[in-house]
Amino acid sequence: MKNIVVQKFGGTSLGSIERIKAVANTIKKTSLNEFPIIVVSAMSGETDKLINLAKDISDAPAERELDALLSTGEKVSAALLAMTLQSLGLQAKSFSAAQISMRTTSNHSKAKIIDINIDTIQASIDEACIPVITGFQGINDVGDVTTLGRGGSDTTAVAIAASIKAERCDIYTDVDGIYTTDPNLVPEAKKLRSITTEEMLELSGQGAKVMQVRAMEFANRYDVPIRVLSSFEEGEGTLITKEISSMEQPIITGIAMQDNQTKFTLHGVEDTPGNASGILGPIGDAGIDVDVIVQNVSVSGKTDFTFTIGNSDAKKAQKILESNLIKVNYDKLIVNNEIGKVSIVGVGMRSQSGVASIAFKTLAENNINIQMISTSEIKITLVISLKDMNLAVKSLHKAFNL
Ligand code: ADP
Ligand code: ASP
Ligand code: MG
Repeated sequence: MKNIVVQKFGGTSLGSIERIKAVANTIKKTSLNEFPIIVVSAMSGETDKLINLAKDISDAPAERELDALLSTGEKVSAALLAMTLQSLGLQAKSFSAAQISMRTTSNHSKAKIIDINIDTIQASIDEACIPVITGFQGINDVGDVTTLGRGGSDTTAVAIAASIKAERCDIYTDVDGIYTTDPNLVPEAKKLRSITTEEMLELSGQGAKVMQVRAMEFANRYDVPIRVLSSFEEGEGTLITKEISSMEQPIITGIAMQDNQTKFTLHGVEDTPGNASGILGPIGDAGIDVDVIVQNVSVSGKTDFTFTIGNSDAKKAQKILESNLIKVNYDKLIVNNEIGKVSIVGVGMRSQSGVASIAFKTLAENNINIQMISTSEIKITLVISLKDMNLAVKSLHKAFNL
């Protein structure tokens, strides 16, 4: 019995019939030694094209129909790839999310996977027929199609790898591994041989789109080893795994950035119990993620309360805020979407002090003002002006010798 590996191919990797043929050859090679289960994204640009078609009809298309529309991109690539594999003499079959019972929550465009019935996949394995599964989508409890958020095919792949107990999950993409920061923005970025799941979870959560953050949550919870590698060239890629020998561990592993953020500040909030829950409770209830949250120490009973939200949810959050603020005493609401977030990540921070002061000094030397600071055990996040973001990443990358 061959080891089972899940292999996911991203949009650029499947961007043309030539690319699909190249991918089919990679799969054929894998199938000599291992049994591949394939997860596909839509062909590159396809999801954006579908979103734009919907936007031509309405600014706010019905969420159910939008998901029905977006799910078609992955169906096209799954069928085309299955045909190509067949033309190479391999047994292969495409499967939609409904066919493999990929059950999700009902919140369209950001549904969460609840469970997968692996019977269909297992039956395909038993017949030695390679399953080619649509990424990015699921079905809710009434059978409607849902989608998992941009980049969601990564999550489909890791979730399938976890439920089928695959040997590992290969993420084939347009870069040849995980770098110290986005190599398309910082050419000096260096490729990493390995990175811990915990660090990649933080980097993804802070904007490194090479892995969707939900995929990293699954990898962390179910201990799925991941390899990120290029579908364009041969190479070892980067291994994302729970444990890495401490010899290999630098203090800082990588830097992530995020530009699509909005900062909300409630100025002059009366400092009384229940404010934070009064302000953020209704936003959380609407399923909107709030990221960096800062409340100042109050002077004469008043304080400033500031938090950030991803731009895609910002308008909805602002409406919710404004309709709930009657219960909160404050002077004014300031909304700023010209902000960027830069995050420095590394498990070495646990045992090494001084990382924050190097970061602050570096930004000061570059005349970059820090608007908010938030830290966790292995991460420092700095909210700055959007116009300073690229300079901040480049100078921090240099300051930490990455
Ligand atoms: P796919 O279509 O294969 O899912 P994505 O565009 O979602 O690919 O992710 C790959 C991209 O992630 C790269 O082209 C790169 O610009 C970006 N990226 C961001 N941070 C990193 C990082 N630390 N290492 C590698 N790539 C990164
Ligand atoms: N096609 C979807 C997107 O473009 C999902 C994915 O590629 O992972 O976001
Ligand atoms: Mg992606």
